[in-house]
Amino acid sequence: VIEIGTPDRSVLTTCAYCGVGCQFTAEMRGDELVRMVPAKQGKANRGHSCVKGRFAWGYAGHRDRITSPMIRESIDEPWREVSWDEALSFAAGRLNAIRETHGRNALGVITSSRCTNEETYLVQKLARAVFGTNNTDTCARVCHSPTGYGLGQTFGTSAGTQDFDSVEQSDVMLVIGANPSAAHPVFASRMKKRLRQGAKLIVIDPRRTETVEGAHYKAAHHLALTPGTNVAVVSAMAHVIVTEGLYDEAFIRSRCDWDEFQDYADFIREPRHAPEAVELITGVPAAEIRAAARLYATGGNAAIYYGLGVTEHSQGSTTVIAIANLAMMTGNIGRPGVGVNPLRGQNNVQGSCDMGSFPHELPGYRHVKNPEVRAIFEAAWGVPIDPEPGLRIPNMFDAALDGSFRGLYCQGEDILQSDPDTTHVVAALRAMDCVIVQDLFLNETALYAHVFLPGASFLEKDGTFTNAERRINPVRRVMAPKAGYADWEVTQLLANAMGAGWDYKHPSEIMDEIARLTPSFAGVSYELLDKLGSVQWPCNETAPEGTPLMHIDGFMRGRGRFIRTDYVATDERTGPRYPLLLTTGRILSQYNVGAQTRRTENGAWHSEDVLEIHPHDAEVRGIRKGDWVHLVSRSGETTLRADVTDRVSPGVVYTTFHHPETQANVITTDYSDWATNCPEFKVTAVQISPSNGP
Ligand code: SF4
Repeated sequence: VIEIGTPDRSVLTTCAYCGVGCQFTAEMRGDELVRMVPAKQGKANRGHSCVKGRFAWGYAGHRDRITSPMIRESIDEPWREVSWDEALSFAAGRLNAIRETHGRNALGVITSSRCTNEETYLVQKLARAVFGTNNTDTCARVCHSPTGYGLGQTFGTSAGTQDFDSVEQSDVMLVIGANPSAAHPVFASRMKKRLRQGAKLIVIDPRRTETVEGAHYKAAHHLALTPGTNVAVVSAMAHVIVTEGLYDEAFIRSRCDWDEFQDYADFIREPRHAPEAVELITGVPAAEIRAAARLYATGGNAAIYYGLGVTEHSQGSTTVIAIANLAMMTGNIGRPGVGVNPLRGQNNVQGSCDMGSFPHELPGYRHVKNPEVRAIFEAAWGVPIDPEPGLRIPNMFDAALDGSFRGLYCQGEDILQSDPDTTHVVAALRAMDCVIVQDLFLNETALYAHVFLPGASFLEKDGTFTNAERRINPVRRVMAPKAGYADWEVTQLLANAMGAGWDYKHPSEIMDEIARLTPSFAGVSYELLDKLGSVQWPCNETAPEGTPLMHIDGFMRGRGRFIRTDYVATDERTGPRYPLLLTTGRILSQYNVGAQTRRTENGAWHSEDVLEIHPHDAEVRGIRKGDWVHLVSRSGETTLRADVTDRVSPGVVYTTFHHPETQANVITTDYSDWATNCPEFKVTAVQISPSNGP
C-alpha cells in the first residue's frame, strides 16, 4: 500500500513516453506530484494508460537530475558549476568564434523528439536564423526518417493517414515491424478489442512478439521473415494482389496515375516477386504470403500499422513505399478503418519532423530549395535562409572528423547511446571545439561536452506534443523548472547571447508564429487547444477543427504515386564467422535507452537486457537458459544472459536495448537506409558463445 496523501490541485497534461500521446491529470499536493490519473477526455487514451505513463514519472525528481549549468575548457577537465549567465556567455562565445573562423556551416543543432513542438521549432530556428545554417537534424533520423521520405514520395505528406478511433472500423490489421503490445500499449489494447470482436490480424515480424497472440485472439498469419527482407515479403504480397486481380481498379484510376500503376504492375508481376521465389530469401512459406495477401486485399477495411522494424533497415524507405503501394492498389486509403499508420516510438517524433528539424525542410515539410517558402521565413525572421540543405547527423560526425564541423548544440538527445557505431561518434565528438548538451541527466554524450545546460522535464513546462495520429496535445506546466528555466527559455537565452533579439514570453507565442508560417498549422492556437482539448493537423481554414482522416478525396501531392520496390539484400551478411542475425526491440516496462524508466524506482521493472536464442542454436553451442553468452559482431562485442525460447526462429537472436551495459550500439553496424541514412539497427550478423560473464 502506497500512502499518497490528498492532492490539493490537478493539471491536465500529456505523457512524455510514447507516440500514443495519452493524457493524464497530474494531481499535486503543494509542489509534490502525488499521482498521475489517466484522463477520460484524452482522445488517444480515453481514460486508459500503461505502466510507464501511470507510474514511471519518478525520474523527474531523481537525485541524478543536474540543476546547475556547467562548463569546462576541455573535455579532460572536471566540470565547473556556473551561473546561467556565465554558461550561456561561454557557449555563445565559442559558437561565435567557430562561426567567425570556420564559417556558419561549421555549426549545427540536433533537436529532440522528447521536447515540445515549440522547443523544437526554436532550436531549428536557432540554426537557420542565428547560426545561419541548415545543419539541423533530429533524433527521428535514427527512427522514422524513412517514413518522411516514403510517405512524402507516395502520398505527399509524412504522417499517419488515420486517427486511432479508426481502428474500431478495421476488419483486417496488418502489423509490420512493430510490437504495439510492448511499445504502444494503450493503442494495442484498442487493437485487441477490435480483434476480439472478430477482426483479423496479420503480423510480419521475425519474432513471435506479444502482439502475435493474446487473450482471446491470435494472428491469422504470422510471417516470421528473416531480418532484412521486408521489401521482398511486402512486394510478394503485391505480386499476389496484382497477378490474382485483387486490386481496386476504380480507386487506382480515380486517385492515382493509371499508366504509372500499369508500369508498376508489369514490374511486380515478374516471377522474382512470386511468393515461391521470395520464400527462398525470406524463409516465409509461399502459402502463408499468398494467404496474407488475399486476406489483406479482400478482407474488408484493411489498416497497416508499422514501426521501427520497417524503418531501421538499409531498405527502410523502400519498405515504406512498398507499404504505401499495397494500400493504394487495394483502395485502403481515405476512409475509416484503413490507411497507413507509422507508430511513433517517442512522444513527439511526429512533431519534431513537422517543425522543420530536417536539414532539407523548413516547418511543414517544405524544401529549403523552394524560393517562395524561403521568402516566407526570411520575411518573418529578418535573415536570409541558405537554399542548400544542411548536414544530417551522420554527415555532421563525418564533417567533424575532417575538421569542417566544430560546434554542436544537442537538446534532449543522447547521441552517444542512441546512434550506431559508438566509436565513430566518440571520435567525432572529441574532434569538436564546442559540444553543448542540454538534458535532465549527465548523459553519455555529456562525457564529451564543453557545456552542460540543465533540461526541464515535461512536468516543468508548457507546450505541445504531436502524437502518431497527428494529434497536437497540450503539455501543461505542473511544477516550476528545477533548474529555473524551461528548455525553450534556454534556447532563447542562447540565441540572444549570440546577438539575436528574441522576445517570446510564453510558448503560446511560439505556436502563434508556427501557425502564421505553416499552412497545415494555420488554425492552431492555445485557445483552440483549450477549447477542443487537442487537434489533429492539418488544421486551417478548410479544417478549422482539424483532420482525423487524411487523403479522403485526393492525396496531398495530388495523385498517389506507385514506385517500383526492388529488393536489395543488406550488405550485413551472415557467414561462418558471424552465423546468426541479431535483431532488437523493446519490452513494456522499459523505455528506449532507459534514461527515465531506469530512474523510476520500481522493483518490478525489467532489470537487464537478455538475449533470446532458439533452442536449436542454444543446444549446438552448449547454452542453457540463464547462462552468460558472449556476442561478437563486425563492429564490437558484449556479454548478456541467454533466454532459450522458440519466440525466435533458428538463425535469429533478439535483445532489447534498455540498459547501457548491453552496449547494443557497439554491436550494430554503420549500414543505413539508402535514402535517409536511418541506421540499420535491426540486422546485425553475430557469433555467440558461452561466457563466464562480463
Ligand atoms: Fe504513455 Fe504511451 Fe503508455 Fe500512453 S501508451 S501511457 S503515451 S507510454
